[in-house]
Amino acid sequence: MVSQHQAQAAGLSHAARRAKLREAVFGGKNPPDALLIVGAGNLFYLTGFTGSFGALLLTPDAERFLTGGIYATQAHGEVADMPIVVNPVLKEFGETVAETAQALGVRVLGVESSTSLAWLQGLRKPMRTAKIRLKPVGAPVDKLRRIKDADEIARLRAAARVADATFEHIQRLFQPEIAEWDLAMEIDFYLRRQGAYPAFDTIAVSGERTALPHGKPTERRLQKGDFVTVDFGARLDGYCSDMTRTVVIGAASPEQRRLYTAVLDALNRAIEAIRPGVKGKQIDALARQTIESHGLGDYFVHSLGHSVGIAVHDGAGLSFRDKKPLEAGMVLTVEPGVYVPGFGGVRLEQMVLVNPDGCELLTHAPIELRECGQ
Ligand code: ZN
Ligand code: ZN
Repeated sequence: MVSQHQAQAAGLSHAARRAKLREAVFGGKNPPDALLIVGAGNLFYLTGFTGSFGALLLTPDAERFLTGGIYATQAHGEVADMPIVVNPVLKEFGETVAETAQALGVRVLGVESSTSLAWLQGLRKPMRTAKIRLKPVGAPVDKLRRIKDADEIARLRAAARVADATFEHIQRLFQPEIAEWDLAMEIDFYLRRQGAYPAFDTIAVSGERTALPHGKPTERRLQKGDFVTVDFGARLDGYCSDMTRTVVIGAASPEQRRLYTAVLDALNRAIEAIRPGVKGKQIDALARQTIESHGLGDYFVHSLGHSVGIAVHDGAGLSFRDKKPLEAGMVLTVEPGVYVPGFGGVRLEQMVLVNPDGCELLTHAPIELRECGQ
């Protein structure tokens, strides 16, 4: 639950985020007269609105929140600090957006690169009628969302704590005869019981199926000698956590230990190297070299990690594509893995907050090899 105090603090954060956005969009060369935001995640980030349908119109000195009748009451409650425009039933939403922009004197309206084709098609005619030109402005909100503010960090910490507690709760299920499906159900149930939602479809795979990085849980029952990988997260107060652990049922074989040691080594080295100024691709390369040094280079088949926030995949993170230096305030996952077809795999995933000196772990569940149900 969010207390009144937290809600007020969040309200201040929303206004501060909109101020930063205005600076970024209207402070540059040839700025548009206004900016239109329509993505649900970006609306939540900038206003606190939790519905799935709405639009935010920002000019340098005015702001309007627009939505349909289905969210009118909710919008008045959640977006208390700006005028709300409710689209009348039987009217195209695009027309209301165009008329609202026209009333604010807008001639050039900035739209984000993530605006869908369906949205743009709905805007085309009303904007032409209102003599407003649409102008692409890139992804200024997504850029801001990469650096988390204090309110977001508090929520991400809380979401990570719920995931930690959930991993502790399922320990008793790491034993022979428990089905992957039951493991996944118990994870989801426990997340919900703590006031959260699963942040994505929970992964619970066992035996040879641990070689599937994104395998779906089945009725397969755990057996002695299995690797078991669970990858799950909590979405709490609008923010996601994401963590992965691999355990062994019974005693680990030497080959299982070899895989686990390689992945844990890569994880630890990557986390030690994360600090502001280092590029995401350098951290990815370091983890990759570490796994190669253990002779398992062919089996690390995905990127090292991603940004996490309102969305589980909240933007750029730790991959060969990430050429920009890391900055304090980023929250990233670090998740090396090896997947050997026909044998099994290991993935370990931590969530970290980049701080001025390095990074801080947000996930605290045990990470050393666990031999369960013995
Ligand atoms: Zn994950
Ligand atoms: Zn992840």
